[in-house]
Amino acid sequence: MTGLNAQDSAIYLAIKSVNDKSKKLDPYLFETSAVAIDSRVSTIDPITYGRTRNFVDGAVTYISPYISRGVISTKQVLTKLLDQGHAPKKIEKFIQELTWRDYWQQVWSTKGDAIDVDLKNPQTEVTNQGIPEAITSGQTGIEAIDRAIETFYRTGYLHNHVRMYIASIACNVAKSHWKAPAKWMYYHLLDGDWASNALSWQWVAGTNSNKKYYANQDNINKYCHTRQQETFLDLSYEELPKMAVPSKLSHTIDMKLTTNLPESTPIVIDTTLPSLIYNFYNLDPNWKKGVLANRILLLEPSHFKKYPISENSIRFMLDLGKNIEGLQVFVGEFQDLVAQYHLEKTYYKEHPTNLHYKGIQEPRDWMFTVEGYYPSFFAFWKKCKKELVW
Ligand SMILES: Cc1cc2nc3c(=O)[nH]c(=O)nc-3n(C[C@H](O)[C@H](O)[C@H](O)COP(=O)(O)OP(=O)(O)OC[C@H]3O[C@@H](n4cnc5c(N)ncnc54)[C@H](O)[C@@H]3O)c2cc1C
Repeated sequence: MTGLNAQDSAIYLAIKSVNDKSKKLDPYLFETSAVAIDSRVSTIDPITYGRTRNFVDGAVTYISPYISRGVISTKQVLTKLLDQGHAPKKIEKFIQELTWRDYWQQVWSTKGDAIDVDLKNPQTEVTNQGIPEAITSGQTGIEAIDRAIETFYRTGYLHNHVRMYIASIACNVAKSHWKAPAKWMYYHLLDGDWASNALSWQWVAGTNSNKKYYANQDNINKYCHTRQQETFLDLSYEELPKMAVPSKLSHTIDMKLTTNLPESTPIVIDTTLPSLIYNFYNLDPNWKKGVLANRILLLEPSHFKKYPISENSIRFMLDLGKNIEGLQVFVGEFQDLVAQYHLEKTYYKEHPTNLHYKGIQEPRDWMFTVEGYYPSFFAFWKKCKKELVW
């Protein structure tokens, strides 16, 4: 910087600062290499997280796409933070959020397909089984929501608070049943996880909680840093539940969501070796690492018919699979894979979508030993907490 006058120095420093900032990790760039994932986990700041997580620009972690795809586990994340010397008391909020993930997984494991329908209470005041077109086209007129939906289609990520806002607008303001909008969101999310998804939608819609969740414009303005007024949400919490469906949201559509699976190509199997079955929910690169085995990413059309996903989500899954050496993709049903390739010794990880697999089932990695269905998260958390050294 020598030889620059004061004005040039100021310009130089301003440009340098912009360049330095642009070099910061782009939170929406969901890289798939093991190194990138590890570095993403290493940047977690669980203390700032506790204070800021509800703000759209808060210190959230963006790690759920990797957890949902089974690349890393909640337990690995927790262990890493504790190994860094964080005291559980100081990072309680963060541990609690990770525990929500395991909680929903336990509910799915015990309740199975019962989570596909209203779990505790029937959804009230439902007028349609579709989704407002204004949501799918990002034209609700609520600036923060429309901007987030635009980013969502590009990145496959939505902040938790925005997910809650969208679910509330769809179910409680536009009076859509939760299922179709939930499937739309799951379709586009890179972190699509049917337990966290369906059960959170049900929590907002009041079918898995004691009351419906509402957020008004003031709340959205606060957490999304907007200053919008006079929208259909610019009401008090007394007025919101009583309002008629705003005209902006009255047109609902029935979305046909389909999954474009890759072409099925022949795979090469060594029948003297065991076969490890990977799938949409298990892409763990460290699972039986070093063991000689056939490694097969099983993409069952029946699974994706029930839980359709977008092209982006498919691409993300296939890219994550590249971290697993020798992984071959089989598009077809489990029984056809076994019959076609004469598989004898198959291994897979426990998951509610695998109940029809045959072979040796291995457990998933949970943070705590607490198992089974707890009607409330806080009853579950109370038990889990006891396993931490406070
Ligand atoms: C309507 C709705 C739909 C959702 N759908 C999904 C989904 O399909 N897949 C999914 O993974 N999560 C879903 N969530 C939960 C939550 O929004 C995401 O896990 C979180 O926003 C992911 O971003 P992050 O990793 O930056 O989270 P952070 O806030 O940084 O949290 C860290 C981790 O804690 C866990 N976590 C945090 N909040 C929650 C929560 N509310 N429920 C469960 N686990 C949580 C996640 O594993 C997350 O990766 C949904 C929430 C709502 C309200």
